[in-house]
Amino acid sequence: MKEANQARLVDALRDAGTMTQAELARFTGLAPSTISNIVRALTSGGLLEVSPTVSRGRTAQAVRLSRSAGLLLAADFGHRHLTVAVADLAYRILGRRRVALEWDHRVDDGLSEVDRLAGELLTELGVDRSALVGVGMGLPAPIDVRTGQVGAPSQLPGWIGVDAAELAGRRLGVSVRVDNDANLGALAEQRWGAGRGAEHLAYLKLSDGVGCGLVIAGRLFRGAIGTAGELGHATMNEFGALCRCGNRGCLETLVATPALLAELARVHEDELTSIGDVIRLARAGEVTARRVLDDAGQHIGVAVANLCNIFNPDRIVVGGELSQAEDLVLASMSRTLNRQGIPAAAQAAELVLAELGTESQLLGALLLAGEAAGPHLLATLPPVELDAG
Ligand SMILES: [Zn+2]
Repeated sequence: MKEANQARLVDALRDAGTMTQAELARFTGLAPSTISNIVRALTSGGLLEVSPTVSRGRTAQAVRLSRSAGLLLAADFGHRHLTVAVADLAYRILGRRRVALEWDHRVDDGLSEVDRLAGELLTELGVDRSALVGVGMGLPAPIDVRTGQVGAPSQLPGWIGVDAAELAGRRLGVSVRVDNDANLGALAEQRWGAGRGAEHLAYLKLSDGVGCGLVIAGRLFRGAIGTAGELGHATMNEFGALCRCGNRGCLETLVATPALLAELARVHEDELTSIGDVIRLARAGEVTARRVLDDAGQHIGVAVANLCNIFNPDRIVVGGELSQAEDLVLASMSRTLNRQGIPAAAQAAELVLAELGTESQLLGALLLAGEAAGPHLLATLPPVELDAG
């Protein structure tokens, strides 16, 4: 019984990061005296650490898993980059690295980079590799929930068909969980960003590809095999441009970064190489850049209107690099959503910009790392004799 109570408390902290003793009591349903006994015992055992904080205007004790209980590693793979971060079990980032990566790299090379960067970060922190207790990895591809295999279409063709979590786990010697990057963005925005308090939300990642993570009734919805939310491959024009998925006229062929740059290249030759360039130009009032962003918002608005008609979310969180255009994209998106969606569904959906910016995926990967660390933490709980309570 006492062990079960300890496990509930540790699991609650592992999920939330930091909680006050009062929050722990409310969340676990345990008596405040039981909580304070467990916290005292596990703090003296080195598993927890406590620091003063202010909660609801009153001084309280903030409880978190201590750094000596282990560290988390997050790896966020994009189309052309890899970001790796080490954090403590309260999800506070202690160090990070970002490197460029060829989009057609082999899976072994991608994992070697994770391994190398993790080693560098841990050395900087002066801790041994054995400190890692969980790893979360985000990939721009669907992950088959039955087999763990990376599916298609993937922004990283070298990873298709691979059980990435198993492979990375063998490489890093620690439990690894993997998910689609847009799903991780949805998780992080729901926890710490613009999705807080939303019950049913869609997170859009508008970048080199178009991804979408769905949270339904507070939980990530992956679908039957893990491909839920492939809004980037919603058909906008069945005879449109060929898409990497094999279909034609997908939303991605209209609004992903390469499509926007390709269209502008016809009038700007080679001066625009990133979405940041396009946004700068549009902000300076350049008409073609403004038009391309406005049109992108309109196309996304059509797809989002369909999404709202079907699953009636209360919030749409717009993330990815295109979200840096803010109103240059959001205004036409909102206008189109209201015009194309069922009025009640469109009005119910609050359209907001992601708050965590380009951090959404990395922070979602950290949450996943926390999940991966769960069983290890529970297994290492000391057999503590507790006072009555
Ligand atoms: Zn497609």
